[in-house]
Amino acid sequence: MFRIKFTEKPNEPQKLLREFIGNPIEEFSDMFDRFFNFYGIKILLADDELHKRPLKLKEERTCSFCKATYGENEKFKSLAHLFPSLIGNANLFSDFECDNRNNLFAHYENHLANFLGAARAINMENVKSGALKFKSPDKTFIIEKDDESEIPKLRFESHELENDHFTLDAENKKITFHTIRHSYNPHKVWKSFLKMGLSILPEDYVDDYELAFAILRAKRKNEEKDNPLYKMNMYLHPGPSFPSPMAILFERKNYENLIPMHIACIMFHNYTYQLVLPFSKQDKHLYNGKTLITIPNMPPFIDKHFAEKFGIPKEHRLNFNLDEMKKNEKQDITFSFEDHTDTRLE
Ligand SMILES: [Zn+2]
Repeated sequence: MFRIKFTEKPNEPQKLLREFIGNPIEEFSDMFDRFFNFYGIKILLADDELHKRPLKLKEERTCSFCKATYGENEKFKSLAHLFPSLIGNANLFSDFECDNRNNLFAHYENHLANFLGAARAINMENVKSGALKFKSPDKTFIIEKDDESEIPKLRFESHELENDHFTLDAENKKITFHTIRHSYNPHKVWKSFLKMGLSILPEDYVDDYELAFAILRAKRKNEEKDNPLYKMNMYLHPGPSFPSPMAILFERKNYENLIPMHIACIMFHNYTYQLVLPFSKQDKHLYNGKTLITIPNMPPFIDKHFAEKFGIPKEHRLNFNLDEMKKNEKQDITFSFEDHTDTRLE
């Protein structure tokens, strides 16, 4: 994985410079160079102690998402997370999110949780805490922490033989579990990513994204089935997960390039998501109905030595345009293993 390196800013000891360092994987090195020709890092944010920042007093708060200010009807009572706690965020909070929006975003996050599905239950941090249990909608497939074990250990239960919950490939030392996601609305999943992306914007950019904030609040159904801005690229990398959630805001280097102003990279568990922040006022010249906008593919920020050891990240193109419930979607999760015992033979 790429690391964040902190160095002190000369003459400003209270400020830290952040560098993002690592060696791109060979297969992605052209993409890497191309992407960094177009974009530079504007903000780098990781869920750790160093990135904690003091929050504004409630009396001084304004909601970025709907412009509500502290008063009779808005008390900013909820502890708003910058990124959802369900992706592992423990340190980053927001002082610009009102209670109403907080409730709305919690609703989107339920859809995100169902979309991530069983994969969340096998994330190591969740395994250690033992707080999360996955049960398939038909209740025949269960993943939970094995309480009888001293070391963190997962227990997979498959009830009813005909359900075909796993495929064992003993020769290649792989096992794939097959399960079903709980129902979710893809567009609401996208909205929960959009919320994360808009939350990392510097304060002076918030007004540029009036339209994106309006989309986030809107109850109107998404009718734009083919809008590429609602599609996201995702990488799934084998091996250990990111130690904690991390986000990068990339900014366009050159106005002349027909690309969106900002791209957000959101990393957590074993995922790297690429999100275009849509409809910035800085992109007005692109949205004239004639210009062909390019969205450069972001490379995965997985170090080549890491990939040599654990395997190459796999790219997925996800379409989050559909604004209705998806039911009974299949989910496969593959593990590599070092050894196994087949107790059926004993
Ligand atoms: Zn609000």
